[in-house]
Amino acid sequence: MKVIKEAQEVQMQDTIFGYFDNPADRVPDFDPGLSMACPFCLQSIAKGALKTISLMPIGGSRSYFYRAHKGCYEQATPADTNKLESSLIDAVVVK
Ligand SMILES: [Zn+2]
Repeated sequence: MKVIKEAQEVQMQDTIFGYFDNPADRVPDFDPGLSMACPFCLQSIAKGALKTISLMPIGGSRSYFYRAHKGCYEQATPADTNKLESSLIDAVVVK
């Protein structure tokens, strides 16, 4: 749980989430690029195999995505990923 708390703090400083305004678009309207940290281990995602995780918040018109190390994502528990993903919903959909 401590890791996720830190991940939320990172997200506040520098968003890890990109988005597509139209889910049919191929190029994101906002792409945070490869300069941010993996939300699970907080190390740069520029190194190592990546996984891009797509999110479609209920009630939102945008489709979001974030990147993490493939290994970190695969090792994360469902509770960890749920908490991270609900932090996105709290941060962007409520606004
Ligand atoms: Zn990682």
